[in-house]
Amino acid sequence: MNCWKMLGPYLLPIPHPLSPAPMKYALIIPDGCADEPQDSLSGKTPLQAANLPAMDAVAAAGAVGWANHTPDALPAGSDTANLSLLGYDPVAYYTGRAPLEAAAMGIDLGPDDWAVRCNLVTIEEQTMESFTAGQITSAEAAALLSTLQEKLGGERLRFYSGVGYRNLLVYRGTGLPALFSPDTRTAQPHDLTDQSVRDDYPRGPGSDLLNQLMADSEPIFAAHPVNAARRAAGKPAATNIWLWGLGSRPKLPPFAEIYGKRGAMITAVDLLRGLAVLLGWKRIDVPGATGYFDTNYAAKGRYAIEALNDADLVCVHVEATDEASHEGNAAEKIEALEQIDRHIVAPIHAALKSRGEYRLLISPDHPTPLRTKTHSHGNVPFALAGTNVSPDAATAFDELAADKSNLAFPEGWKLMRYFLG
Ligand SMILES: [Zn+2]
Repeated sequence: MNCWKMLGPYLLPIPHPLSPAPMKYALIIPDGCADEPQDSLSGKTPLQAANLPAMDAVAAAGAVGWANHTPDALPAGSDTANLSLLGYDPVAYYTGRAPLEAAAMGIDLGPDDWAVRCNLVTIEEQTMESFTAGQITSAEAAALLSTLQEKLGGERLRFYSGVGYRNLLVYRGTGLPALFSPDTRTAQPHDLTDQSVRDDYPRGPGSDLLNQLMADSEPIFAAHPVNAARRAAGKPAATNIWLWGLGSRPKLPPFAEIYGKRGAMITAVDLLRGLAVLLGWKRIDVPGATGYFDTNYAAKGRYAIEALNDADLVCVHVEATDEASHEGNAAEKIEALEQIDRHIVAPIHAALKSRGEYRLLISPDHPTPLRTKTHSHGNVPFALAGTNVSPDAATAFDELAADKSNLAFPEGWKLMRYFLG
């Protein structure tokens, strides 16, 4: 009678052996590469001054636009800006830097737990001499943190050693009234270099505990053999811990749930690793990825291409451009951009084209001007090419081309949906 019903099971789509391969996406993030025109570069920005044939080819084949990933209400950091670039409104989802680093370190936070960034610092006479305790090594830091755990830690407080001066404190709050809140204020120690710290100690809910721990660390560290050895070697001692950047676990819905794509992340930076974990992305560790100028660019490119076999979207994040700006080094910034162009953008674009349908997005997270040597709020340029992207007039990927474009995302987190089509 009802032949449709009868035929029903046979009407299910059967994948045809010649059906097109699924669309693949790549996002390449040269961290902090957006900048201002430089006198030392004849009035050009680093993106304009660098020789970037592969990035310019993406711009020429597709479109250039601008986006803002640094909402005024939040600090302009790699944490907030990358959250936005990955498609999440930072105003709605950002809870602090430390919880992202906790995720990267495999530390699970419960609903009442807080992660707190625990720098090892050098403070002399209330002046921040070094927010890195003179680039203290991971081994030295681990020894100091282990003593802290013994003397100050317990069931509620646990110190975790990370990389060098970057360590974490986790506060387990289960069963207790809330101690911290989003109103708890702390200062970023890297903003205090050579300045008085007198007015920059934690304030607000729970700050008494943070201030007590910072004060208690001083006599413990003063008597520590690690510091005795550092002083004997003429190196700055780690005089204190500096607690900051605290937050509870952000409630990020999985990326696959919102956008329907499986992501993979290649980065040398804990913040981005943590974001990847919280988004439900695969993390790919690349040998020789350092987060510095000596990073292995070519390996990052190769691993990204490999990752496309499995993931729908692969993200390659490179920190070297940002580091060059922090050092105010225009030549290194240009060099890093050219390495990214040659070893990451060019091979990934070629691989995407050879596979079939694709989209490729190149975008920094925030500007890091060489002039100020620190992250800033503001627009960043992006270049987007691939399937169904109509080419615009732009032939180069830089700030000037972006400024002229009508393709604009003042709420930068909305760019992800546009990118994914
Ligand atoms: Zn950044």
